[in-house]
Formats: sequence, C-alpha cells, structure tokens
Amino acid sequence: MKTGYLIDMDGVIYRENHLIPGAVEFVQALSDTGTPFLFLTNNSAPTPEDLAVRLKHLGIHGLSARHFYTSALNTADFLSETDPSCTVFVIGEGGILTALHERKIANYAIRPGYVVVGEGATTMEKLTKAHECLERGARLLATNPDNWCPVSSEQTRPGAGATAAFLEASTGRRAYFLGKPNGYMFHRARRKLAELALIALEEVIMIGDTMETDIRGAFEAGMQSYLVLSGSTQLESIGDYVYQPTRVLQSIADLTEEVKTGKISDRLDSPVFTGSQAGKLGHRHQTDIFTFHKPRPRPAMTK
Ligand SMILES: [Mg+2]
Repeated sequence: MKTGYLIDMDGVIYRENHLIPGAVEFVQALSDTGTPFLFLTNNSAPTPEDLAVRLKHLGIHGLSARHFYTSALNTADFLSETDPSCTVFVIGEGGILTALHERKIANYAIRPGYVVVGEGATTMEKLTKAHECLERGARLLATNPDNWCPVSSEQTRPGAGATAAFLEASTGRRAYFLGKPNGYMFHRARRKLAELALIALEEVIMIGDTMETDIRGAFEAGMQSYLVLSGSTQLESIGDYVYQPTRVLQSIADLTEEVKTGKISDRLDSPVFTGSQAGKLGHRHQTDIFTFHKPRPRPAMTK
C-alpha cells in the first residue's frame, strides 16, 4: 500500500530554532524509501524556497520548494481557481505576495475585489487602507485563522487571525479563512502530494501537533491523523476534543522504523499511551471554544 504524509512543521520538525530529535532520520527515511511527503504550514510569511533554506540551516538537507505547501499557496490557489482575474489588496509578507504574483493575481489598492490578510507585521496605515477597501465592497480573506504564533517557548506574536479580527470588528464583515483546518487546504495539499508521488496514493496521513488545525482538518477531510506530543498539545488534554487523532506519538522519531520497514511500530504500545488519561473523554462536547484554558489558535468555524 502506498502511503503519503502531510507533515506540519512547528512542533513536529522543529521548535524555535532547534530540530526535534529524530527529525533528520525521519525525513531521511522518507527520502530513502521513496515515500511521498509534503510539509504543510499555516505560516504564510515565508515562501517555499525560504522554508527549504530554513530546514537546510537546521540540518535537514535535500529539500526543495516542491516539498512545501503553505497557507499562502493555498490562498493563491483558492483565488486562482475561484476568481482568476480578480484583484487584491494584501497585508502580508513575501510568502503571500509571491504566491499571488506567481498566479498572476494583480494588486490594486483603490477598489480591489479582495483584501487578503496574511502573517507578518502591519501598520495602522495599511489597516486603514484595507478597511477602506472593505467599505467599498472588497471581500475579506485571511491566509489562516491563527490568532497568535509561537516565537519561542515564552514568546508569541499576533497571527493573521488577529489582524483579520481587527478588520472584522472595524467593518462588520466576516473573513473567510484558508489554511488549516479548512478542508480546501487539505484537498489541495492532497492533490499536490499525489502529483509529487506520480502514482495514486491509497492513504494520506497528516502528522501534526495541534488539535484545532492539524487533527481537526485531517479528520474533516477524511484522512488519518497522527498527533505528536513534541509541540503544543499535552497528552492529558486530547480527551477534551470531540475529534480524535488516529494515533498519538511521542514524537516523529516513533515513525522512522515504521517508514523504513513498513511494519507498524510497537513503540506506539508504550505504556505512556495506555494510562488512564489517554483517550479519556472530556466533559465538554459542544465546541472547541469551551476547551480553551488560554488563548490559542481559533478555527474560523467556531466563531
Ligand atoms: Mg505545529
């Protein structure tokens, strides 16, 4: 059976500026066995080329732009599929600007069809301009719904979701959020993975560290999902969610042997996953928003 992997980056491959132990060996095993894979990130600031260079500096070699699919590419794919001759006013950085440019979507600051909000620094002047465009009838798109993004273990920065929320508040318009967990992100990533694989894939598995984006999106797209505990999710909080990952791994290192041999790893039978907490159902079932103990990325659908 041919299996392909969609792999989240932050919290799965690296944290801050350090690779997660075993990441190099895992990616090497994927390459050595010809297993199709694609890195999937909600960060719309970098281009795929930037990400390949970033991973190279961290110690993962042999990757190129084709191994990455970002929420910026997803937003550009969305516009080029649904409204290819549209115009946009963009708040964002290189990743989203380049992706739109490559699909020949024109910038127009007077009366654009869309205001596109991505990751990165903005100014009150730009927000005011975007507000005016929306007042004149532009529709509001955001590359991803993340309200904040990790900078380090103690530091966060505002995300595209927060910028979109500002414009939603000032104009009364609702944003449409691309990126994870939007099904369009998973649909297009799956298609890109199939193109990379050159053969039909029988199974596509999402590997991620965040329940609200990686695991929820995979579940809703009908994919298997593997949650790794090397990032934002604690084992004891998994049971709080109404959707569940297919498997829970300590880290991506647990999968390396399995990719090499094709046999299910018995490391997943580790006692850490058989305790009373694993799979325990939480007390709240209506919607994710009630499970938040502190602010964290909020899917657009729960607003
Ligand atoms: Mg992550």
